[in-house]
Amino acid sequence: MERLKSYVQNSWVDGKGEARPLYNPATEEVVAESSTEGIDFAGALDYARSTGGPLLRAMSFAQRGEMLRAMAKIIHSGRDELIALAIANGGNTRGDAKFDIDGASATLAAYAELGREIGDIKVLKDGDSIQVGRTARYQGQHITVPRRGVAVHINAFNFPAWGLAEKAAAALLAGMPVISKPATATAVVAHHMMRLFVDQGILPDGALSFIAGGAGDLLSHLDGQDVLAFTGSGDTAQTLRSLDSVIARSVHINVEADSLNAAVLGPDVEPGSETEGLFLRDVVLDMTQKAGQKCTAIRRVFVPESRMSAVVDALRDRLDGILVGNPADKSVAMGPVATSSQLRDVRQGIAMLSGETEGIFGGSGEIEPVGVAAGKGYFVGPVLRLCPDPAAARVVNDREVFGPVATLAPYSGDPEDAASLVRKGQGGLVASVYSDDRHYLGAIVPAIAAHHGRLYLGSAKMAAQSMGPGTVLATLVHGGPGRAGGGEELGGRRGMALYQQRTAVQGDKSLLKALFD
Ligand code: NAP
Repeated sequence: MERLKSYVQNSWVDGKGEARPLYNPATEEVVAESSTEGIDFAGALDYARSTGGPLLRAMSFAQRGEMLRAMAKIIHSGRDELIALAIANGGNTRGDAKFDIDGASATLAAYAELGREIGDIKVLKDGDSIQVGRTARYQGQHITVPRRGVAVHINAFNFPAWGLAEKAAAALLAGMPVISKPATATAVVAHHMMRLFVDQGILPDGALSFIAGGAGDLLSHLDGQDVLAFTGSGDTAQTLRSLDSVIARSVHINVEADSLNAAVLGPDVEPGSETEGLFLRDVVLDMTQKAGQKCTAIRRVFVPESRMSAVVDALRDRLDGILVGNPADKSVAMGPVATSSQLRDVRQGIAMLSGETEGIFGGSGEIEPVGVAAGKGYFVGPVLRLCPDPAAARVVNDREVFGPVATLAPYSGDPEDAASLVRKGQGGLVASVYSDDRHYLGAIVPAIAAHHGRLYLGSAKMAAQSMGPGTVLATLVHGGPGRAGGGEELGGRRGMALYQQRTAVQGDKSLLKALFD
């Protein structure tokens, strides 16, 4: 069995002591093990700061972009092996695995392109120079430079490939070395990706390190030039925000946490229309892709009261066709959730929802999966619930059930009513609104925008091109206020801001021009 190693200080190291087993969530077989006990985390940080940082800062944006392009190509060339590992360790169907792995290479390629566009420079100007003296001779210019520490990336279990790549793309292009830590339970894919990068020798020493398991005392050694970017649960986020090192040394921290993403069907959307088809497709896709374990997945679905029974029938029909089982079987459309604790959590969430909702499809998730021995695997079937009074509901608006579970709820058809229900999620990554009525959209967009990092407006005109609200794009912001963690990743050039210091430089105009033009 493979024992995963960490890559620090330019070498692969194994942790001491008893290793933690990593499972195939469909069969419960152990597929790998890992330990990070005894790893010199302080040394890993020092090496990245003192070796990786200078080497990256010596490169221009265009050169760092080329490095990202090489990473994207390596992932693409190792795609088949990575897909097989994602099926075995992540419970991914082939489609789920491609979503993660192709998303990783696409994000790296997008940041590679950005590096090419920025070109052969090392310091970015932020805006034009500003006159600050009596005459135009005395000016100020904002610039951005890479922070001189390490970007520590802590990722969730659901996107081992994309999680590593999307954070690393922005940090490395900005010029900061990275230490990446996947969630231990599904670390096999990220570990293999790291192996491919190292074997191909495309990264400067110390530019990218990898922790294959627990973070040990890593975070206690962070200092004021370091960055901590975290994706995971709100509870862990709170622990990390409260670390002495983070508070005392003002460590820059970005959090992507829980989100009760809403979808709203506009009253104008006709039954059988393209927009309705998009809405139904997106809801079912988000419930079932990656067994609902997407931070951007639709959890709450608001439908005009008059349309509810037709929507219930249409969703039931579509969910009925989803075959659940071992994703190694190609006919399977939805695999298990990733871990036994995730399964417990989802079951508990469904039980809590049942106090405020009635079953529409899938009961409480009991299922007989195909292709696995009886009683094996962390399976839960798609579950659709109906909440008659969403304004009074607490669990529906408060508890993110991180699995193939969504709740339908009626509203009057008024955009203000829909907006007030959507806002009960207290801050989300994305909300989607399906309508072809510009007046309706003109009312709801400003009413919910401040509560989200991204709004997806589903309409007949874009339906054929859309990958749904659950797909995060490198060029658009990923993150959200409030419950979603208050963070912001990606969004093209903006995604580098976390890794850069913005500095105002005042001086003689010709000097500033000579330094920065
Ligand atoms: P989690 O338990 O918070 O774990 C997330 C990561 O944090 C893992 O890598 C974990 O490592 C690490 N971690 C946990 N405690 C830590 C500590 N004290 N110090 C350092 N690292 C620590 O979350 P999860 O169960 O993996 O993820 C599920 C949740 O993440 C869901 O609720 C979902 O909402 C959220 N999520 C959000 C997004 C987003 O983009 N907003 C994306 C995906 C998931 P180990 O695995 O080694 O314990």
